[in-house]
Amino acid sequence: MAKKQRSKPKSKKAKPISAHKKIYGKEYHEVKYHAVRCPICNSRIDEYGFCACGAGGS
Ligand SMILES: [Zn+2]
Repeated sequence: MAKKQRSKPKSKKAKPISAHKKIYGKEYHEVKYHAVRCPICNSRIDEYGFCACGAGGS
């Protein structure tokens, strides 16, 4: 008798790659931020010189 196979409990949780990771190669929490804030959007400027509005560093 073949054992009745239950539906496999393996839940395939594919980690959704965030857009941030696609762009920067790392998650937002892994990005180091500079101490300075963008004067325009007042968000931290990350190590790439980007902030929320994109004007930071330029
Ligand atoms: Zn900004």
